[in-house]
Amino acid sequence: MTREPAEPLRLDYLIKAGAIHAMTGASYRSVGLRGAEIAAVSPEPDGLDDLAGPDTVRADLGDLTVLPAFSDSHEHLMEASRNTLLVPVDKARSVAEFTSMVSQAARMAPPGKWILTSMGWHESNLAENRLPTGAELDAAAPGHPVLARRGGHLAVANTLALQAAGVGTDQPDPPGGKIGHLPDGRLSGVLESGAVYQVAAFAPAPSAEELAGALGTRSAEYAALGVGTIREAMVTLDDLQAYQRAWRGGLLNVRVRPLIRIGNELSTADALALIRGLGTWSGFGDDWLRIWGLKFVMDGGVEGGALEQPYANDPANSGHLNWDPAAMTEVCTEAVRRGWRIGTHAAGDRAVRTLLDVYEGVVAQTGSLPPWTLVIEHALLSDRAQRERAVRGGFGVTVQHPLLWNMGSEMLVTWGPERTRQVNPLDDWLALGASLAAGTDIARPFNPMTNVWGMATRGTKSAGIQGTEHAIDVPTALRLYTLGSAALNGEADRLGSIAPGKLADLVAYPLNPLTADLDDLAELTPALTIVGGRATHDPDKRLAR
Ligand SMILES: [Zn+2]
Repeated sequence: MTREPAEPLRLDYLIKAGAIHAMTGASYRSVGLRGAEIAAVSPEPDGLDDLAGPDTVRADLGDLTVLPAFSDSHEHLMEASRNTLLVPVDKARSVAEFTSMVSQAARMAPPGKWILTSMGWHESNLAENRLPTGAELDAAAPGHPVLARRGGHLAVANTLALQAAGVGTDQPDPPGGKIGHLPDGRLSGVLESGAVYQVAAFAPAPSAEELAGALGTRSAEYAALGVGTIREAMVTLDDLQAYQRAWRGGLLNVRVRPLIRIGNELSTADALALIRGLGTWSGFGDDWLRIWGLKFVMDGGVEGGALEQPYANDPANSGHLNWDPAAMTEVCTEAVRRGWRIGTHAAGDRAVRTLLDVYEGVVAQTGSLPPWTLVIEHALLSDRAQRERAVRGGFGVTVQHPLLWNMGSEMLVTWGPERTRQVNPLDDWLALGASLAAGTDIARPFNPMTNVWGMATRGTKSAGIQGTEHAIDVPTALRLYTLGSAALNGEADRLGSIAPGKLADLVAYPLNPLTADLDDLAELTPALTIVGGRATHDPDKRLAR
């Protein structure tokens, strides 16, 4: 009886490049892929030639530099995808353009159909630098309910939308929310936080098929910017089903790690019932779609964030907290005991301090927890004592320079220059030994290299350089955006660096980001993105057979 020789390892792809930065300090010239994984690496361009067979695709990328694909630790792919089904008012540059887009959509819609806008708009991009009014939306679409949501915490509704939601002039504000009024007492149409959801709940949702299709096309836009994984920072259970539909159809072009929203409008009993009814826990799924955990929201954003000191432009206001700390501690403790990780939005320093109270209260009952079980999302403002408490408690932090990049001018007005400079001091967090993971939170495709440039320069879109002393170097920024996020997702053994046995998530650039001029990074886009051993962005067909 003769024994068959062991099947030799045959690569599916043999990739050679000017530099392949593993993100661990090692650097290679060739990398071999087999199936969804990296099979081999070599410091020599020809070091893996013996592993290539007749079916191996050989891709010589010339001078390109290869990095692990980016892993965004906090982004809203679902919202970005849903936005593609909505009136694209984020493209408007004036209130007139905004309302004419609404009125055009209304003319094409059947009578009475809700007109919903995209959420990624901001009044700072409108010439008038103000919100459209409810009355202007009435005039634009007199026969349709109109809801113009802006991000997660603010919306403008017209009269028919408010009526459909049963919101009258005497309606009390919902918990953690605000229904705006004009000086004469009539409704202004402006809704904040909890009040947004109160009205949005009456707007019909797109179908799961529509959403799954939108996830497919939108995720391709992220892949084209070098993103391999998105930690999806807030989904409903319906959203999760749309994700499963997209997953089943093979439509996703990025890996997704969703957080399920536990709304602060729920009573403690209802929040506990929701969590007990989920019937799963963190980590369920596969390499493409895996549930990260639960999402809580402690405060608002640049407007509505809970601050230790009053707002610069409103001395009577220091923001609001959405959760009673004792109730949230009870809910989170039960969730952790049932196997859940928790990420909580905390933007202002008072929210961060209160969240630290909650998380410390959880650990006091559960005993010490694995790293990245309890996570602070954003911590835009924090003081040193809070940062030290977070590090001591083992609470990781997701950080998003694009929030400062995008909203720096609003922060200057609402928080003042001193606090704006102190937003997300990554240098100090790292000096204290914090676990950080980088992301965007911008709810539309955002170039990761613009983010890296921003972390390294503290540059912003329209507010200049803010707090240059808090800049970090490019290799550190890249590490937080790859290995940092992989650790956050509990996948440091599978993702975040280039090594045999890891998933083949790679991105290739025409410049070497580690040696390029900083200013050349801001606009740098990839030539090729690979996720799980298949090209998700390959305009020049470099990986074609
Ligand atoms: Zn977010």
